[in-house]
Amino acid sequence: MSNPILTLNHVTRTFAVKRQTIKAVDDVSLAIREGEIVCLVGESGCGKTTTGKMIAGVLPVSSGEILFRNQNIANLRGDDRKQYRLGVQMIHQDPYASLNPTHTIADIIAAPLRHHGFTRGDAATRERVRELLARVDLTPPDDYLEKFPHQLSGGQRQRVSIARALTVAPSFIIADEAVSMVDVSIRISLLNTLTKLKDAMGLAVLFITHDLALAKYFAWEGRIGVMYLGRLVELAPARDLVERPQHPYTQVLLSAIPEADPEVTRRKKHIELRSMDVPSLLRLPTGCAFHPRCPQFIGAVCEQNVPGLLEANGARVACHLVNRKT
Ligand code: SF4
Repeated sequence: MSNPILTLNHVTRTFAVKRQTIKAVDDVSLAIREGEIVCLVGESGCGKTTTGKMIAGVLPVSSGEILFRNQNIANLRGDDRKQYRLGVQMIHQDPYASLNPTHTIADIIAAPLRHHGFTRGDAATRERVRELLARVDLTPPDDYLEKFPHQLSGGQRQRVSIARALTVAPSFIIADEAVSMVDVSIRISLLNTLTKLKDAMGLAVLFITHDLALAKYFAWEGRIGVMYLGRLVELAPARDLVERPQHPYTQVLLSAIPEADPEVTRRKKHIELRSMDVPSLLRLPTGCAFHPRCPQFIGAVCEQNVPGLLEANGARVACHLVNRKT
């Protein structure tokens, strides 16, 4: 098994809101290996994007540490910091906002190549831009070089964003809702491109999404982490999590995914929550934060004690009910 490229140790991120302190991310520990895919899923406000931003160095941690190749990113200086900055690249949700509308596709991709000295001379840069466009399936590349972002579809723009992220030869990609703004028909094709790149370049990928069906498709050979109100509540190999979900929240999310066959969807048992209201981070429930909604609530222990993320049948699960059985 390869070494972790990235490790989160008890990472917490707080924000001041209305004179109170909220924990957007609370005590998250996670190690991602070289070449591995890990999906973080959960409802909006669960802390998955904040986690991605801390890994990318956009936000500092409030406590805990993030290690890139065993070095705390908060302490990196000089060349080590540059290696981390280039090694970890983020693909954002909105390809409309992340590409400069006044630059051609060739210029957008050439800029980081030149800036970081990955190519020398116009001819070599142009050739590398062509290679990168072909890698993200924008072919033939010459059809795209002189176009502006507004002349491309949403899916094509996102492919340009991916090509730009690849210019600096990263080893770790954070894709934050990277396919959620493109048409449903394009999503699978973009995910297939990301998978192909991951395999060809040995990239580790942290894929952040609210859509467990997408996570299931993309991370089938990797792992899925489910977040709820800032905490990681289940982390497991994707197949195990989908076929044998252990945390009640994961079970609810899976029960809500429509199947390709409408008849299977009709027969599927939909799990009802005790409450549809998502608690505010300003007024987090005591004990297990899921307890006001949990269909398997078991009383005082759920109301009073925060469950730890413990080993359970090859996964890690934060639930008193599961932890009692294992
Ligand atoms: Fe439900 Fe209790 Fe488990 Fe929380 S700890 S998920 S409330 S059973």
